[in-house]
Amino acid sequence: MERIHEIVIVGSGFAGIGMAARLLSMGIRDFVVLEQSAALGGTWRDNCYPGAACDVESHVYSYSFEPRPTWSRAFAEQQEILSYLNDVTDKYGIRPHISFSSKLQSASWNEAQAFWKLRLEDGRSLGAKILVSGTGCLSRPTFPAIPGRETFEGPAVHTGAWDPAFDCRDKSVAVIGTGASAIQVVPSIALQVRALKLFQRTPPWILRKPDRRISPLEKNLFASLPFSQRLVRWLTHWRREFLLLFFVVKPEWMKLVQHSGTRYLEEVVKDPVLRAKLTPDYTPGCKRLLLSSEYYQAVQRDNVELVTDSIAEIRPRSIVTRDGREHAVDAIIFATGFETAGAKAIAFETRGRGGVDLADRWKDGAEAYLGTSVAGFPNLFFVLGPNTALGHNSVIYMIECQIEYIARCIELMRLRRLASVEVKQSVQDEYNRLLQERISRTVWASGCRSWYQSESGKNVALWPGFTAEYRKLTARFDTEDYRTRTSPSVCTADVAGSVRDGPIEMPMFRQVAYEAIGSAKS
Ligand code: NAP
Repeated sequence: MERIHEIVIVGSGFAGIGMAARLLSMGIRDFVVLEQSAALGGTWRDNCYPGAACDVESHVYSYSFEPRPTWSRAFAEQQEILSYLNDVTDKYGIRPHISFSSKLQSASWNEAQAFWKLRLEDGRSLGAKILVSGTGCLSRPTFPAIPGRETFEGPAVHTGAWDPAFDCRDKSVAVIGTGASAIQVVPSIALQVRALKLFQRTPPWILRKPDRRISPLEKNLFASLPFSQRLVRWLTHWRREFLLLFFVVKPEWMKLVQHSGTRYLEEVVKDPVLRAKLTPDYTPGCKRLLLSSEYYQAVQRDNVELVTDSIAEIRPRSIVTRDGREHAVDAIIFATGFETAGAKAIAFETRGRGGVDLADRWKDGAEAYLGTSVAGFPNLFFVLGPNTALGHNSVIYMIECQIEYIARCIELMRLRRLASVEVKQSVQDEYNRLLQERISRTVWASGCRSWYQSESGKNVALWPGFTAEYRKLTARFDTEDYRTRTSPSVCTADVAGSVRDGPIEMPMFRQVAYEAIGSAKS
């Protein structure tokens, strides 16, 4: 084995780079970031399909500690976000800590010596006292189980693992799926392809995207008066927080969004038959609410056909739908999303205390405490773990909350010389009971199927509250919620304390957490 690091981070996307920056700010140098690819960027490296952009405003889709006055658009495109992440990496001296082309295959907890033994795909191995998984919930593309998929002879790409060499010019191309990725790729390639067959299973709710160029004047203002950019960030964040009322507190208010989406559709699509095909039959927000000012226009192009019959099979040069039609295509773009729930969503084999397999634990849907730690898996933390994604605001905010929580834990472990911390099963169970109770009253439980859910329909993806509430819950690390050990051989569950911006104080954390989540009951 190479050596045991104090901390190993998996993934160099927003989560991994943010965690690394925080460790450096704490003076911690003994850490490594494992990156499976030869370049950093996570989802913003892999989702490089034409038209890829963020549907959350740039001023909030960026780290709070690194605002960028020069964002070129209200909603940045993939390339610009990727270059932002690269710039942050270099500015904070993170690059030397990244081990590229190092795909983590398995992690197993060594109870006797209190460390994670990590095995890489290329056969190397190393150790980590603390393991932070920053692989996110949208990193493993999923392909639908359509008979004959493997027999297709032309190029087939997935939006989530885009091949930059894929050339769709003058080809007859099929796009399968009509989610967030599809509505971005379709308008971009519709101009280039000879014919585009768009296979839709469920139409999404789409609102106009209020995108625009940011003027040189605004950029100058942001650069010379940083406060002005912070103000815009703050206003954007709270405007989005307000939207949560629609999702969580008063799902019936989604009728307003439905009205707005329907009007937009009527305005842009005049053909009533096509409009009917594009009209969703579920409450807006149940699946992710999408933003595009180009998608409906693209669907109406002469070279684009919206196919709503479900796919029966894929043949070497065509796709056959259940009505018996055979659609000849030269290439297929799968815009069919990601493994987001259950065992397949786990990026590497993870065996905790007693050899327990995380895939077994999560086979009916992932579960963690604060989306960050899991009983039976000491010293393992997830950034963007279960139920920490958002349907209404920037996920970077959640990432930063989790990073702070983990940083406080690390600080506490160093101060108290703790060898391990492991969340108590009872704490995790109670937290998730309250969380699921709350989700059951939101728009996400209003009857649709989405990537937010496991096979059994349990929502394993979203945080059902205000982000400020999550920040409050993660603002301190409370060892009362954890089993702790001061040395590998001694279990001392009574080393209690919490870390919050300074001296250790006695914990109130669990109570605060439960009160905050429980308040949703009323
Ligand atoms: P997705 O939202 O899960 O959409 C997958 C699409 O594939 C759905 O339309 C689904 O239909 C369809 N599909 C799956 N199997 C199919 C089959 N057998 N036949 C026909 N259609 C099939 O995936 P995504 O579009 O990649 O987006 C995932 C998430 O990534 C988004 O919700 C968002 O959080 C994130 N994302 C963000 C941005 C951004 O701007 N920030 C951009 C892209 C993605 P059903 O609806 O019927 O299941």
